[in-house]
Amino acid sequence: MTVSNISAFAQPYETDDRPREACGVFGIFAPGEDVARATYFGLYSLQHRGQESAGIAVGDGKAIRVLREMGLVSQVFSEAQLEDLHGIVAIGHCRYSTTGSSQLCNAQPMVIVDDPGAPQEGEPFTLAHNGNLVNVAELQESLEASGAKFMSTSDSEVIIQLIKRTSGRSWHERIARALPRLSGAFSLVLASANELFAARDPWGIRPLCLGRIGERWVVASESCALDTVGATLEREIAPGELIRINEDGITSLMYAEPVPKLCSFEFIYFARPDSVIDGLSVHSVRVALGRQLATEHPADADMVMPVPDSAIPMAVGYARQSGIPYGDGLVKNRYIGRTFISPTQFQRDRGIQLKFNPLTAELEGKRLVVIEDSLVRGTTSRPLVALLRKAGAREVHLRIASPPYRHPCHLGMDTGRRSELIAAQHTLDEILQFTGADSLKFLSLEGLATAIGRPAGTSCRACLDGKYPMPVQEELQELSVD
Ligand code: AMP
Repeated sequence: MTVSNISAFAQPYETDDRPREACGVFGIFAPGEDVARATYFGLYSLQHRGQESAGIAVGDGKAIRVLREMGLVSQVFSEAQLEDLHGIVAIGHCRYSTTGSSQLCNAQPMVIVDDPGAPQEGEPFTLAHNGNLVNVAELQESLEASGAKFMSTSDSEVIIQLIKRTSGRSWHERIARALPRLSGAFSLVLASANELFAARDPWGIRPLCLGRIGERWVVASESCALDTVGATLEREIAPGELIRINEDGITSLMYAEPVPKLCSFEFIYFARPDSVIDGLSVHSVRVALGRQLATEHPADADMVMPVPDSAIPMAVGYARQSGIPYGDGLVKNRYIGRTFISPTQFQRDRGIQLKFNPLTAELEGKRLVVIEDSLVRGTTSRPLVALLRKAGAREVHLRIASPPYRHPCHLGMDTGRRSELIAAQHTLDEILQFTGADSLKFLSLEGLATAIGRPAGTSCRACLDGKYPMPVQEELQELSVD
């Protein structure tokens, strides 16, 4: 395989230059408090998990009102709208599409209003989902056979329809009976007009945590959202757990046996570094990944620099372990929103320079170790190496703080087909040639496990080793074909 052949497949993404990520969810039960505003701030700190659409649903004891729009949290909600949203319970969602296309009908929270099948007629219900189901086709088929009509293309609607059509004396009972039929990744926040629920799939693929502000309860995808609203982190919602929060307090039900398989990419890329997941500081894990990378793949160089932002703590770790000084070689423009850049030829040509500007004075004449958190389709690395060389770098040694990404994720990361993943199609030597770097090394699978430090077998790394935690439906398996 020649270098030019590789570049033919390493095209920028259809609508963006990065793989897409999962979503952020938030929920609060706090009578007498401004639950809408708390949810707004919670979503603000989860914005990194999804920038396509945002929504808040508020229950006031009788009804549920929802605000949903395409765009960033700061663009979707106005002060006047928030001012007007009163209630005792609220849930929120920020979305990047995984299944379901990029349209308002797929925005969340999803609602059922005036549902004749509800436990009490007309009682509203709402749901926000992070993750991706792997048995959606079979569920949708059986729901349609029983008369369900789908309004969106999202797997989250399958969940809400399933709950709606499951019998039970209360929402709690219906949810508890519906959840065991779902397979795949789901971290859910749900609400009726006067109760909050939160549930996590038996594998605990996506994070979900419980926090407390005095007597009030909050749930969020990541603990950074709890910090923002002044809540303390109480604990993780356990894999296979369903929580119910209402005026009587909080109750927990294990609806399934837990088989923990937390997504490794939450530590590598998704989560904010100031979050704590399952007792582990994301920042500290990233520093450890950098240290491990330095141990496995040393380099003879003058400066260690990150590709900002996610690789910054990894570069810190590499520098500490290797003794090579840390330096910043790129400034990232943080105001380039995904929402307003259209995938024009201009963007394809200039994409990397719109995002990163080199600090020439830092780079001139230097032998660099450049730390990147991951290589997925190979879109970033080649123009980046060229940019650094143009800015005067003498040598560029690429070090990737995760193992080669070879299998599509079916559980919440939209990284595309196997044929689009550079490490699935090419040898490491071919990838090195393609990037134009002087050397290229990846962290080992064992090194990843050591740096994350979770008990053996409790992490999902299907994108790296192809071992999915559960059977995956046929349509999704096709993505795994070359
Ligand atoms: P690529 O340029 O296609 O090789 O993708 C790797 C780059 O995308 C790295 O800079 C990562 O920080 C970033 N990245 C890794 N995983 C994801 C993801 N799931 N969503 C968005 N960006 C990602």
